[in-house]
Amino acid sequence: MHPFMQPVSEIYSLLDQPKNIVITFHQKPDADAMGSGLGLYHFLIQFGHTVTVISPTNWAGFLSWMPGCKKVLDYEMQTARATAVLDTADWLFCLDFNTMDRTRKMAEKLTGLTCTKILIDHHQQPQEEQFKYGISDVKKSSTSEMVYDFIINSGNGNKITKELAECLYAGVMTDTGSFRFTSTSAAVHRMVADLKDKGLEHSQIHENLFDNFLEGRFRFFGQVLLNRMEIFYDYNTALIAIPQADLIKYNVKTGDTEGLVNFPLSIHGIKLAAIIIDRGDERKSSFRSKGGFDVNTFARKYFNGGGHFNAAGGKNSETLDVVVKKFKDAIKENKEQLSSYKF
Ligand code: 5GP
Ligand code: MN
Repeated sequence: MHPFMQPVSEIYSLLDQPKNIVITFHQKPDADAMGSGLGLYHFLIQFGHTVTVISPTNWAGFLSWMPGCKKVLDYEMQTARATAVLDTADWLFCLDFNTMDRTRKMAEKLTGLTCTKILIDHHQQPQEEQFKYGISDVKKSSTSEMVYDFIINSGNGNKITKELAECLYAGVMTDTGSFRFTSTSAAVHRMVADLKDKGLEHSQIHENLFDNFLEGRFRFFGQVLLNRMEIFYDYNTALIAIPQADLIKYNVKTGDTEGLVNFPLSIHGIKLAAIIIDRGDERKSSFRSKGGFDVNTFARKYFNGGGHFNAAGGKNSETLDVVVKKFKDAIKENKEQLSSYKF
Protein backbone atom coordinates (compact mmCIF):
# COMPACT_ATOMS: atom_id res chain seq x y z
CA MET A 1 0.00 0.00 0.00
CA HIS A 2 2.84 2.38 0.89
CA PRO A 3 5.88 1.66 -1.30
CA PHE A 4 8.30 3.34 1.10
CA MET A 5 6.87 3.15 4.62
CA GLN A 6 6.68 -0.08 6.57
CA PRO A 7 3.56 -0.48 8.73
CA VAL A 8 3.72 0.95 12.26
CA SER A 9 2.85 -2.51 13.60
CA GLU A 10 6.55 -3.35 12.92
CA ILE A 11 7.60 -1.19 15.86
CA TYR A 12 5.22 -2.64 18.50
CA SER A 13 7.84 -5.19 19.57
CA LEU A 14 10.50 -2.46 19.87
CA LEU A 15 8.46 -0.28 22.25
CA ASP A 16 9.89 -1.76 25.43
CA GLN A 17 13.54 -0.96 24.57
CA PRO A 18 14.25 2.51 26.07
CA LYS A 19 15.18 5.13 23.50
CA ASN A 20 15.49 8.88 22.98
CA ILE A 21 12.28 9.85 21.26
CA VAL A 22 11.16 13.16 19.77
CA ILE A 23 7.53 13.84 18.87
CA THR A 24 6.65 16.70 16.55
CA PHE A 25 3.66 17.96 14.53
CA HIS A 26 2.71 20.77 12.15
CA GLN A 27 3.45 24.45 12.77
CA LYS A 28 0.91 26.48 14.76
CA PRO A 29 -0.43 23.21 16.19
CA ASP A 30 -4.17 22.82 16.62
CA ALA A 31 -5.77 20.63 19.30
CA ASP A 32 -5.34 17.50 17.16
CA ALA A 33 -1.62 18.11 16.60
CA MET A 34 -0.91 18.99 20.23
CA GLY A 35 -3.38 16.40 21.58
CA SER A 36 -2.03 13.50 19.51
CA GLY A 37 1.54 14.58 20.34
CA LEU A 38 0.97 14.77 24.09
CA GLY A 39 -1.22 11.64 24.06
CA LEU A 40 1.65 9.73 22.47
CA TYR A 41 4.05 11.33 24.98
CA HIS A 42 2.02 10.06 27.97
CA PHE A 43 2.00 6.61 26.37
CA LEU A 44 5.71 6.35 25.53
CA ILE A 45 7.07 7.62 28.86
CA GLN A 46 5.45 4.58 30.53
CA PHE A 47 8.04 2.36 28.77
CA GLY A 48 10.99 4.31 30.23
CA HIS A 49 11.79 6.21 27.04
CA THR A 50 13.19 9.73 27.21
CA VAL A 51 10.54 11.64 25.30
CA THR A 52 10.57 15.28 24.18
CA VAL A 53 7.74 17.02 22.34
CA ILE A 54 8.92 19.81 20.02
CA SER A 55 6.50 22.21 18.34
CA PRO A 56 7.85 23.94 15.18
CA THR A 57 6.30 27.24 16.35
CA ASN A 58 4.29 28.70 19.23
CA TRP A 59 0.69 27.65 19.82
CA ALA A 60 -2.66 29.02 20.95
CA GLY A 61 -3.10 29.78 24.64
CA PHE A 62 -6.27 27.65 24.77
CA LEU A 63 -4.07 24.52 24.43
CA SER A 64 -1.95 25.25 27.48
CA TRP A 65 -4.25 23.29 29.86
CA MET A 66 -3.25 20.02 28.22
CA PRO A 67 -1.30 17.76 30.58
CA GLY A 68 2.38 18.00 29.60
CA CYS A 69 1.99 21.15 27.48
CA LYS A 70 4.32 23.19 29.70
CA LYS A 71 7.20 20.85 28.82
CA VAL A 72 6.78 21.23 25.05
CA LEU A 73 9.72 23.00 23.37
CA ASP A 74 9.06 25.77 20.83
CA TYR A 75 11.64 25.26 18.04
CA GLU A 76 11.62 28.93 17.01
CA MET A 77 12.09 30.20 20.57
CA GLN A 78 14.36 27.40 21.86
CA THR A 79 16.24 26.44 18.71
CA ALA A 80 19.54 25.44 20.36
CA ARG A 81 17.90 23.19 22.97
CA ALA A 82 15.53 21.62 20.45
CA THR A 83 18.37 21.03 17.99
CA ALA A 84 20.45 19.27 20.66
CA VAL A 85 17.50 16.98 21.48
CA LEU A 86 16.89 16.23 17.79
CA ASP A 87 20.58 15.39 17.26
CA THR A 88 20.44 12.61 19.88
CA ALA A 89 17.02 11.19 18.89
CA ASP A 90 16.72 7.50 18.02
CA TRP A 91 13.11 7.84 16.89
CA LEU A 92 11.25 10.82 15.50
CA PHE A 93 7.44 10.69 15.42
CA CYS A 94 5.86 13.10 12.93
CA LEU A 95 2.18 13.62 13.66
CA ASP A 96 -0.67 15.36 11.84
CA PHE A 97 1.29 16.56 8.80
CA ASN A 98 2.14 15.07 5.43
CA THR A 99 5.14 17.06 4.17
CA MET A 100 8.16 18.39 6.05
CA ASP A 101 7.49 21.97 4.90
CA ARG A 102 4.52 22.01 7.31
CA THR A 103 7.15 22.36 10.08
CA ARG A 104 8.38 25.73 8.79
CA LYS A 105 11.93 26.54 9.97
CA MET A 106 12.36 23.01 11.37
CA ALA A 107 11.79 21.37 7.96
CA GLU A 108 15.43 21.39 6.87
CA LYS A 109 16.60 19.99 10.21
CA LEU A 110 14.02 17.17 10.16
CA THR A 111 14.76 16.27 6.54
CA GLY A 112 18.48 16.00 7.33
CA LEU A 113 18.07 13.72 10.38
CA THR A 114 19.15 10.11 9.89
CA CYS A 115 17.29 8.62 12.86
CA THR A 116 14.24 6.37 12.43
CA LYS A 117 11.30 8.52 11.33
CA ILE A 118 7.72 7.43 11.89
CA LEU A 119 4.64 9.11 10.37
CA ILE A 120 1.13 9.00 11.85
CA ASP A 121 -1.17 11.23 9.81
CA HIS A 122 -4.51 11.60 8.05
CA HIS A 123 -3.65 14.06 5.23
CA GLN A 124 -3.46 13.22 1.53
CA GLN A 125 -0.26 12.50 -0.39
CA PRO A 126 2.35 12.15 2.39
CA GLN A 127 6.07 12.52 1.67
CA GLU A 128 6.51 8.76 2.14
CA GLU A 129 10.19 8.55 1.19
CA GLN A 130 11.02 10.48 4.39
CA PHE A 131 9.68 7.79 6.73
CA LYS A 132 10.88 4.29 7.61
CA TYR A 133 7.58 3.41 9.28
CA GLY A 134 4.24 5.05 8.97
CA ILE A 135 0.51 5.03 8.72
CA SER A 136 -1.35 7.51 6.55
CA ASP A 137 -5.13 7.18 6.38
CA VAL A 138 -7.30 10.02 5.05
CA LYS A 139 -10.42 8.23 6.26
CA LYS A 140 -9.42 8.70 9.89
CA SER A 141 -11.15 11.52 11.75
CA SER A 142 -7.99 12.77 13.41
CA THR A 143 -4.41 11.94 14.23
CA SER A 144 -5.56 11.53 17.82
CA GLU A 145 -7.80 8.65 16.73
CA MET A 146 -4.78 7.12 14.95
CA VAL A 147 -2.62 7.41 18.09
CA TYR A 148 -5.45 5.72 20.00
CA ASP A 149 -5.48 2.90 17.40
CA PHE A 150 -1.68 2.61 17.72
CA ILE A 151 -1.97 2.18 21.49
CA ILE A 152 -4.84 -0.33 21.27
CA ASN A 153 -3.39 -2.34 18.36
CA SER A 154 -0.05 -2.65 20.15
CA GLY A 155 -1.92 -4.30 23.02
CA ASN A 156 -1.44 -1.45 25.47
CA GLY A 157 -4.98 -0.21 26.12
CA ASN A 158 -4.29 -0.52 29.85
CA LYS A 159 -1.77 2.35 29.56
CA ILE A 160 -4.48 4.91 28.76
CA THR A 161 -4.50 7.21 31.77
CA LYS A 162 -6.92 10.07 32.42
CA GLU A 163 -4.27 12.59 31.26
CA LEU A 164 -3.67 10.65 28.06
CA ALA A 165 -7.43 10.39 27.45
CA GLU A 166 -7.83 14.18 27.85
CA CYS A 167 -5.21 14.89 25.19
CA LEU A 168 -6.67 12.44 22.64
CA TYR A 169 -10.23 13.58 23.31
CA ALA A 170 -9.30 17.21 22.61
CA GLY A 171 -7.88 16.16 19.23
CA VAL A 172 -10.69 13.91 18.08
CA MET A 173 -13.42 16.26 19.30
CA THR A 174 -12.05 19.33 17.52
CA ASP A 175 -11.04 17.57 14.26
CA THR A 176 -14.58 16.16 13.95
CA GLY A 177 -16.19 19.57 14.56
CA SER A 178 -17.54 18.29 17.90
CA PHE A 179 -18.52 14.92 16.33
CA ARG A 180 -20.36 16.58 13.45
CA PHE A 181 -18.30 15.82 10.32
CA THR A 182 -18.85 12.65 8.28
CA SER A 183 -15.47 11.37 9.51
CA THR A 184 -17.19 10.71 12.88
CA SER A 185 -17.43 6.94 12.54
CA ALA A 186 -18.84 4.42 14.96
CA ALA A 187 -15.20 3.69 15.87
CA VAL A 188 -14.77 7.32 16.95
CA HIS A 189 -17.73 7.02 19.33
CA ARG A 190 -16.38 3.69 20.63
CA MET A 191 -13.03 5.36 21.27
CA VAL A 192 -14.72 8.16 23.23
CA ALA A 193 -16.70 5.60 25.24
CA ASP A 194 -13.42 3.88 26.13
CA LEU A 195 -11.83 7.22 27.10
CA LYS A 196 -14.85 7.91 29.33
CA ASP A 197 -14.28 4.52 30.98
CA LYS A 198 -10.69 5.62 31.63
CA GLY A 199 -11.87 8.66 33.63
CA LEU A 200 -12.32 11.35 30.97
CA GLU A 201 -14.41 14.37 32.06
CA HIS A 202 -15.35 15.74 28.66
CA SER A 203 -17.35 18.87 29.62
CA GLN A 204 -14.30 20.44 31.19
CA ILE A 205 -12.36 19.98 27.96
CA HIS A 206 -15.01 21.75 25.85
CA GLU A 207 -14.85 24.62 28.34
CA ASN A 208 -11.04 24.73 28.24
CA LEU A 209 -11.05 24.91 24.45
CA PHE A 210 -14.07 27.04 23.62
CA ASP A 211 -14.78 29.28 26.62
CA ASN A 212 -11.39 30.81 27.21
CA PHE A 213 -11.16 33.64 24.67
CA LEU A 214 -10.60 37.32 25.32
CA GLU A 215 -13.15 39.97 24.39
CA GLY A 216 -10.95 41.25 21.55
CA ARG A 217 -11.45 38.08 19.54
CA PHE A 218 -15.18 38.68 19.29
CA ARG A 219 -14.79 42.41 18.54
CA PHE A 220 -12.43 41.28 15.76
CA PHE A 221 -15.01 38.76 14.48
CA GLY A 222 -17.58 41.59 14.47
CA GLN A 223 -15.25 43.79 12.44
CA VAL A 224 -14.36 41.21 9.81
CA LEU A 225 -17.89 39.77 9.43
CA LEU A 226 -19.28 43.28 8.97
CA ASN A 227 -16.57 44.88 6.85
CA ARG A 228 -14.31 42.22 5.30
CA MET A 229 -16.74 39.57 4.05
CA GLU A 230 -17.74 39.34 0.40
CA ILE A 231 -20.36 36.94 -0.90
CA PHE A 232 -20.31 35.73 -4.48
CA TYR A 233 -23.83 34.35 -4.85
CA ASP A 234 -23.26 33.23 -8.46
CA TYR A 235 -20.50 30.96 -7.17
CA ASN A 236 -22.06 29.92 -3.84
CA THR A 237 -18.85 31.28 -2.33
CA ALA A 238 -17.91 33.59 0.54
CA LEU A 239 -14.54 35.21 1.24
CA ILE A 240 -13.18 37.08 4.25
CA ALA A 241 -9.94 38.93 3.41
CA ILE A 242 -8.22 40.37 6.47
CA PRO A 243 -5.56 43.08 6.32
CA GLN A 244 -2.77 43.01 8.88
CA ALA A 245 -4.07 46.29 10.37
CA ASP A 246 -7.15 44.44 11.73
CA LEU A 247 -4.93 41.88 13.50
CA ILE A 248 -2.96 44.66 15.14
CA LYS A 249 -5.97 46.80 16.09
CA TYR A 250 -7.77 43.93 17.86
CA ASN A 251 -4.59 42.37 19.28
CA VAL A 252 -5.31 39.06 17.52
CA LYS A 253 -3.23 36.19 18.94
CA THR A 254 -2.26 32.76 17.60
CA GLY A 255 -5.42 30.64 17.48
CA ASP A 256 -7.86 33.55 17.62
CA THR A 257 -8.82 33.13 13.94
CA GLU A 258 -9.51 29.40 14.30
CA GLY A 259 -13.16 28.69 13.54
CA LEU A 260 -13.74 32.02 11.79
CA VAL A 261 -14.05 30.37 8.37
CA ASN A 262 -17.04 28.36 9.62
CA PHE A 263 -19.19 31.51 9.91
CA PRO A 264 -19.47 32.18 6.16
CA LEU A 265 -19.86 28.43 5.60
CA SER A 266 -23.01 28.55 7.74
CA ILE A 267 -24.73 30.99 5.35
CA HIS A 268 -27.55 29.35 3.40
CA GLY A 269 -26.37 28.43 -0.08
CA ILE A 270 -22.63 28.75 0.58
CA LYS A 271 -20.65 25.81 -0.72
CA LEU A 272 -17.14 27.27 -0.50
CA ALA A 273 -15.88 29.55 2.29
CA ALA A 274 -12.44 31.10 2.40
CA ILE A 275 -10.42 33.40 4.62
CA ILE A 276 -7.19 35.02 3.53
CA ILE A 277 -5.22 36.69 6.32
CA ASP A 278 -2.29 39.03 5.85
CA ARG A 279 0.03 37.79 8.61
CA GLY A 280 2.82 40.13 7.54
CA ASP A 281 5.38 37.47 6.57
CA GLU A 282 2.85 35.62 4.39
CA ARG A 283 -0.77 35.55 3.28
CA LYS A 284 -2.37 32.53 5.02
CA SER A 285 -5.53 31.07 3.59
CA SER A 286 -8.13 28.61 4.89
CA PHE A 287 -10.74 26.89 2.75
CA ARG A 288 -13.82 24.93 3.77
CA SER A 289 -16.42 23.33 1.53
CA LYS A 290 -19.66 21.42 1.76
CA GLY A 291 -20.39 18.48 -0.48
CA GLY A 292 -18.47 17.73 -3.67
CA PHE A 293 -16.07 20.67 -4.02
CA ASP A 294 -12.51 19.47 -3.34
CA VAL A 295 -10.62 22.23 -1.49
CA ASN A 296 -7.49 20.09 -1.13
CA THR A 297 -7.01 20.23 -4.92
CA PHE A 298 -8.08 23.90 -4.97
CA ALA A 299 -5.50 24.83 -2.27
CA ARG A 300 -2.76 22.86 -4.01
CA LYS A 301 -3.46 24.36 -7.42
CA TYR A 302 -3.69 28.05 -6.53
CA PHE A 303 -2.40 28.59 -2.99
CA ASN A 304 0.70 26.37 -2.41
CA GLY A 305 -1.25 24.37 0.13
CA GLY A 306 -3.30 21.27 0.70
CA GLY A 307 -5.23 19.49 3.43
CA HIS A 308 -8.41 17.43 3.26
CA PHE A 309 -11.25 17.22 0.74
CA ASN A 310 -13.53 19.63 2.69
CA ALA A 311 -10.90 21.54 4.75
CA ALA A 312 -7.61 22.85 3.44
CA GLY A 313 -5.24 25.79 3.65
CA GLY A 314 -2.35 27.46 1.91
CA LYS A 315 0.13 30.30 1.95
CA ASN A 316 1.27 32.92 -0.57
CA SER A 317 4.08 35.46 -0.65
CA GLU A 318 2.23 37.99 -2.86
CA THR A 319 0.33 40.98 -1.39
CA LEU A 320 -3.17 40.53 0.02
CA ASP A 321 -4.74 42.29 -2.99
CA VAL A 322 -2.93 39.97 -5.39
CA VAL A 323 -3.97 36.84 -3.46
CA VAL A 324 -7.60 38.03 -3.31
CA LYS A 325 -7.49 38.60 -7.09
CA LYS A 326 -6.06 35.09 -7.45
CA PHE A 327 -8.98 33.73 -5.42
CA LYS A 328 -11.55 35.56 -7.54
CA ASP A 329 -9.91 34.27 -10.74
CA ALA A 330 -9.80 30.76 -9.25
CA ILE A 331 -13.53 30.67 -8.46
CA LYS A 332 -14.24 31.93 -11.99
CA GLU A 333 -12.18 29.04 -13.35
CA ASN A 334 -14.25 26.65 -11.22
CA LYS A 335 -17.57 28.37 -11.91
CA GLU A 336 -19.17 25.36 -13.51
CA GLN A 337 -18.77 23.21 -10.41
CA LEU A 338 -19.39 25.97 -7.85
CA SER A 339 -22.51 27.44 -9.45
CA SER A 340 -24.16 24.11 -10.21
CA TYR A 341 -24.51 23.24 -6.54
CA LYS A 342 -28.07 22.30 -5.61
CA PHE A 343 -29.56 23.09 -2.19
P1 5GP B 1 -6.61 25.41 8.53
O1 5GP B 1 -7.47 26.09 7.52
O2 5GP B 1 -7.37 25.08 9.77
O3 5GP B 1 -5.32 26.12 8.76
O4 5GP B 1 -6.20 24.02 7.89
C1 5GP B 1 -7.12 23.13 7.38
C2 5GP B 1 -6.43 21.92 6.86
O5 5GP B 1 -5.57 22.27 5.78
C3 5GP B 1 -5.55 21.24 7.90
O6 5GP B 1 -5.75 19.87 7.77
C4 5GP B 1 -4.15 21.60 7.53
O7 5GP B 1 -3.29 20.56 7.77
C5 5GP B 1 -4.23 21.90 6.04
N1 5GP B 1 -3.37 23.03 5.71
C6 5GP B 1 -3.50 24.29 6.18
N2 5GP B 1 -2.54 25.10 5.66
C7 5GP B 1 -1.79 24.33 4.85
C8 5GP B 1 -0.64 24.58 4.03
O8 5GP B 1 -0.11 25.68 3.95
N3 5GP B 1 -0.14 23.49 3.34
C9 5GP B 1 -0.72 22.27 3.40
N4 5GP B 1 -0.17 21.28 2.69
N5 5GP B 1 -1.78 22.00 4.17
C10 5GP B 1 -2.33 23.01 4.88
MN1 MN C 1 -5.63 16.61 12.32
